[in-house]
Amino acid sequence: MIHAPKNAGLSPGLYIVATPIGNLSDLSPRAAQVLAQADLIAVEDSRVTAGLLRHIGTKRPMLSYHDHNADRVRPGLVEKMGTQAIALVSDAGTPLISDPGYKLVRDARAAGHIVFTIPGPCAAIAALTLAGLPTDRFFFLGFLPAKEKARADAIAEVAAVRATLILYESGPRLGATLAALAQGLGDREAAVAREITKTFEECVGGTLRTLAARYADAPPRGEIVIVVGPPGEAPPPAEADVDALLSDALIRLSTGQAASEVAKATGLPRRDLYARAMAIKGEA
Ligand code: SAM
Repeated sequence: MIHAPKNAGLSPGLYIVATPIGNLSDLSPRAAQVLAQADLIAVEDSRVTAGLLRHIGTKRPMLSYHDHNADRVRPGLVEKMGTQAIALVSDAGTPLISDPGYKLVRDARAAGHIVFTIPGPCAAIAALTLAGLPTDRFFFLGFLPAKEKARADAIAEVAAVRATLILYESGPRLGATLAALAQGLGDREAAVAREITKTFEECVGGTLRTLAARYADAPPRGEIVIVVGPPGEAPPPAEADVDALLSDALIRLSTGQAASEVAKATGLPRRDLYARAMAIKGEA
């Protein structure tokens, strides 16, 4: 048990406090201190946060702040920030990340209150550090829509993004989601990180198809993050496609302009495209 130091006095404002995603020892000393000293803690589920407060040997006033009451509760919370230290936590991890909070931060800032962040655990970032996939560019998708068509559309939207993708998912939907990802993105390298920082933590790597097959009839228990590697290098466009682009451009543009436009679109050398455009004009 951590014993947080007693009130040294927090400035009024909003404190965004990240909390553990499984292992209570991941609560930072600064997070514990802010929670112990906050005048009021806005929480998703008071039973969950009461457990965390017990762990640090404190009790603080709590107010529910979740998707269903946020619009009603927010103005009162923002008003209190003028004179009180208000902390925001979610059940686990970093508030605002697939959790409520961004509108509270927006309104707090608009009202001129100071917003402090106490960074810490986040399942998306923790999974990225486990997956062994490129980390230089990543794109967080949160939860995909549950309905098949909307899910396929959401996947198609990011198919060309040249970055590692990070998604949250639940055990029962894991197999179907992996299959939909394989269908929409191709058979990329991926990883399924499960129960991070908990007793049964694991991170299973493979291609999307092998992972989809593995989990198809064996939905795993616990909390899950899917990490998908970026697409491979795009293959060069087929000759016929390049000719079609050039022919179309030649209707509207001079030979030089057509070559430039198609060079920009395909990444092919302008000089080669100019020569091909001249040949097409000769054939016409
Ligand atoms: N705000 C949280 C954060 O910073 O990670 C995420 C909240 S979101 C409502 C909950 C989802 O995060 C879970 O359904 C799961 O996909 C993922 N998650 C949370 N804890 C996890 C853990 N220990 N291991 C794997 N995934 C986790």
